[in-house]
Amino acid sequence: MGKYKFQAEVSRMLHLIIHSLYSHPEVFLRELISNASDALDRLRYLTLTDDDYKGFAFIPKIDISFKNHKQHTISVSDTGIGMSAEDLEKNLGTIASSGTQHFVESLSGDVKTDSNLIGQFGVGFYSSFMVADRIEVTSLKAGEEKAHRWISDGQGEFEITEAEKKQPGTEVTLYLNEDGKKFAERWQIENIIQKYSNHIAFPIFLHYQESRFKGEGEKRIEKKENKVEQINSASALWMRPKSKITDEDYNSFYKTISHDNEDPLHFIHTQVEGALQYTTLFYIPSKAPFDLYFANYRPGVKLYVRRVFITDDEKELLPTYLRFIQGIIDSDDLPLNVNREILQQNKILAKIRSTAVKKILNELKKIARHNMSKYENFYKEFGRPIKEGLFQDSANRDTLLELVRFKSTSQEGLTSLNSYKERMLSDQKAIYYITGENEANLKASPLLEAYKKRGIEVLIMDDEIDEIIISVIDRYKDTELKAINRSDAAEDLKSEEDKKEEKTITPLVKRIARVLKDDVKEVRASTALIDSPSCILADEKDPSFQMQQIFKAMGQKEIPATKPILEVNPNHEIIKKLGDIKDEELFGDISRLLYEQALLIEGIEVKNPAQLVGRLNRMINLAL
Ligand code: ADP
Repeated sequence: MGKYKFQAEVSRMLHLIIHSLYSHPEVFLRELISNASDALDRLRYLTLTDDDYKGFAFIPKIDISFKNHKQHTISVSDTGIGMSAEDLEKNLGTIASSGTQHFVESLSGDVKTDSNLIGQFGVGFYSSFMVADRIEVTSLKAGEEKAHRWISDGQGEFEITEAEKKQPGTEVTLYLNEDGKKFAERWQIENIIQKYSNHIAFPIFLHYQESRFKGEGEKRIEKKENKVEQINSASALWMRPKSKITDEDYNSFYKTISHDNEDPLHFIHTQVEGALQYTTLFYIPSKAPFDLYFANYRPGVKLYVRRVFITDDEKELLPTYLRFIQGIIDSDDLPLNVNREILQQNKILAKIRSTAVKKILNELKKIARHNMSKYENFYKEFGRPIKEGLFQDSANRDTLLELVRFKSTSQEGLTSLNSYKERMLSDQKAIYYITGENEANLKASPLLEAYKKRGIEVLIMDDEIDEIIISVIDRYKDTELKAINRSDAAEDLKSEEDKKEEKTITPLVKRIARVLKDDVKEVRASTALIDSPSCILADEKDPSFQMQQIFKAMGQKEIPATKPILEVNPNHEIIKKLGDIKDEELFGDISRLLYEQALLIEGIEVKNPAQLVGRLNRMINLAL
């Protein structure tokens, strides 16, 4: 009993709390309720396990009230374990939790940055000094006779006196300061509880007064009525046994956390017990959120520690490509006072995250296998982020390769790599694909001719992200993936005879190459072409043309200047006749046109359209 000084670290922290501005002063309530909930948990445990406490009349609840309206107070009271005088001195005069110790040690001393941290993450009980200039804690420890009161204005000292309290538990009364006054209001409190503590497993009652008016005119008198309302759902849905939760429950919980009016497409509820203890409940929405492709999207997963809400603004809880997932992670092993940096380096969270990702991807694999139309719905909305996963998450690349779908030359709709593989010809060497912007253009590409003729399926990758993701994938299972607009793919298709035939026009090829020496890397004959006279390919060592265009669009200035390879078709009428042309000017025009049409058909700009038009007009003139 008497006056005490705060431990030096506490004083330092209180100084910061009292003398700075905070971004989230409302977290004080989360902290008080979380402490109350802990106290209730502990007494509940004792009544269940300790003979001294068995038969104890225990009605777990938290009451919030505004007892003294004139002085703007708010009281949070619980029927939990309570604190003795000694407990009050130790718990509310020092920093016991090692998490908080660590946090305080890591404070930089710079008021601005530090106060932001404190405001954002709360520092337990002491954060109440953000909104109060005097705090009284009246407590009766369960099983003891005498109650005590702890009083402080947060200025270096606190006092402990004897007090009156009949029921075990703790009542914390805040005398709100100027900034805190706004919290002495029913709606404020309800909103904060909704946001931060709705899933606290104990009922939270709000006591308030409502004015009633009686009579008319001069006789009209105001009568205040006391009201009590439970303001939380008092059950953490995800903690209930799965067998006790209906689809209805799951769906309505989804709506409260996601603000989506539609039912989710799927949910995945996992309760893990063992060395690590945690629960995850993930939802896949049926529709993509509007901000799916915004850099500042709102993450959909909330972190709880032992049912206490920690954050809904942590993008690292799941990898970026799974940003469409909504839900919760509730860990029993994380400290409550975790700040963002601690979260990001936390091994427990990393473990939870990697297991969660595997679980989600496997679940998607199951849907793909057993419920095609559901998977199609999923893929229509979220196929794109799943593709992003291919370059973000190399650890799960194999699973992601099972999940991606592409258009194809021989299938309606989309196909998986696995079913492509099943359709491969017996002597087919690779999975072939073509990338570009426009499906119709791609399907008309001269490059496809040889594959069509041989009955080989080619994947059509017309999504701009395809170009980027495909560059990191060189095989599916043990089959190579090859872009048909790269120089090495066509080689697979050629017979010895084809190669002989290509050699026969060597002098012509050399002549064309002289004309185009500044534009192309190489000119060569190719039997891969059937109906078209020419096509261009990217050298297998160079980035593809589409990739170069993406670099350009991203504003990358130093794009390596790469030249394409021009292939001409020795069996085409134009090429056959070209060798006989003596007029060098005409030969030059035609050679250039062969090159330029090959560019245009791949959707690549020609450098000088005016010159191209000039050449075309000279040709038209000749034909007329
Ligand atoms: P933390 O909750 O992180 O340990 P706090 O500063 O919020 O840190 O609280 C310090 C300690 O005070 C708690 O660990 C607990 O032992 C005690 N305490 C706080 N509030 C209560 C309460 N309502 N009932 C019982 N004990 C409490």
